Amino acid sequence: MSATTLEEFPAIIGGERVNGSRTFEDIDPSTGQPCATVARCGQAEIDQAVAAARGTFQNTWRRTTPAERARILHKISDLLRRDHEELARLESMDTGKPLKQARADATVAARYFEFYANTIESFYGDTIPALSGTFVYTLREPYGVTAHIIPWNYPIQIGCRSVAPALATGNCCVMKPAEEAPITTIRLAELALEAGLPPGALNVVPGYGEEAGAPLAAHSGINHIAFTGSVEVGQLVSKAAAENVIPVTLELGGKSPNIVFADADVAKAAPIIVNSIIQNAGQTCSAGSRLLVQREVHDEVVEAVAERFRQITIGPGLDDPDLGPIISRDQLERVGGYVRQGKEEARLVVGGNAPQDERLRGGFFFEPTLFDDVSSGATIAQEEIFGPVLVTSTFEDIEEASALANGTDYGLIAAVWTRDVGKAHQLAHELQVGQVYINTYGAGGGVELPFGGFKRSGHGREKGYEALYEYSQVKTVALKYGP
Ligand code: NAD
Repeated sequence: MSATTLEEFPAIIGGERVNGSRTFEDIDPSTGQPCATVARCGQAEIDQAVAAARGTFQNTWRRTTPAERARILHKISDLLRRDHEELARLESMDTGKPLKQARADATVAARYFEFYANTIESFYGDTIPALSGTFVYTLREPYGVTAHIIPWNYPIQIGCRSVAPALATGNCCVMKPAEEAPITTIRLAELALEAGLPPGALNVVPGYGEEAGAPLAAHSGINHIAFTGSVEVGQLVSKAAAENVIPVTLELGGKSPNIVFADADVAKAAPIIVNSIIQNAGQTCSAGSRLLVQREVHDEVVEAVAERFRQITIGPGLDDPDLGPIISRDQLERVGGYVRQGKEEARLVVGGNAPQDERLRGGFFFEPTLFDDVSSGATIAQEEIFGPVLVTSTFEDIEEASALANGTDYGLIAAVWTRDVGKAHQLAHELQVGQVYINTYGAGGGVELPFGGFKRSGHGREKGYEALYEYSQVKTVALKYGP
């Protein structure tokens, strides 16, 4: 595609499409070529967006009833469904993810607005009958302006996960999508305006992390930050939030295990284990990136997974293969570096290279890669690779399984594969993670299920009813009516 044909995507500030004086090129990871130009925001646009959000919050949105907000959120959900295919195609092009996965993401995005439109009408405070002659009740109030810093791996899904409950509880939002994949976030804001969301309630300021993300996180006009991304940037955002004494939700990385016991249904487990790491080319915070197998079934499980890895199709996301490209050249090199280290630390079973296919030249592709005999202290067992790389370790008993599973700095999710319900629950209690799955992994979009990390995977909870608490604060009111 030549530069002259590229579509230009603006910032959305105060309900206006703002092209600004500067743009950046958005790269298609399947070709390595630009696929769009996008407004490149900095401090000035952040100031305008925060001011717009503040104005709409004060004058309009905070005074709306839950029913009024619910009607608009339902309309946004309807429009996300109406434009489902367009959004899925844009997401697939921008992130490289296979089209069927992008379609699933677009469906989940619509569900977030639907879910929070439904639940906000039954989100109440309490009455506290503790003091005599006094009527005490609590109100759940919005924070004001919420900032949403979004990663590139699931832009439309994570964006909606975060702004739908924020808007439902009465906040106004400023979103900063990742520079690698900003397009669908901009489309979301346009659809929200079409749905009747007041101008300024949902602003989008695309741009680079240091130019747009950092000034947003540090802005004195915001009252809450929802950050999803790397631990390193999460720490910077946390420090900025601390300076302004505002709450921050951190959804960070993971090194999540599938734990397979000898009594598991291996035939059922194998395809789900493979999908948990291959989905989105392993660039999923909750990817099943570690495989912990009980010794008795080790060979059977490794062979079942390896066989599936060998059959995986690789290609551009819009061709809808099993595995698309990595998001960027930098990430591809990072994955390659881990795999080189893995070849020294462990036994390579399948993959280990970029595919030698002429048709994929220029794109950021990497083969599905399986390592075995990985020691618990190995770098590839400890650090988040964020690519289609699965590392296998063996355990003898439930104690060792638990120690291995808990033996990283992360604690996002885990899956236990066993037919013994007692063992499953014992482990569910011992695992230091935000979600435990038993004989399954993930839950589709999991819109209704609280999600978030233990340890360095972050804090705060997104999704489900929990997110309504996350985006609101309690006010207690006491009225004296008697002695
Ligand atoms: P990243 O931390 O580099 O970027 C995330 C966002 O932060 C982007 O929008 C980026 O522009 C912005 N940013 C970068 N520098 C900034 C700064 N100094 N101040 C403010 N904002 C800044 O992460 P990424 O590379 O986009 O995503 C990969 C990481 O995100 C992985 O570690 C992954 O596990 C994690 N992740 C976690 C979840 C979750 O829900 N737990 C979901 C998706 C991704």
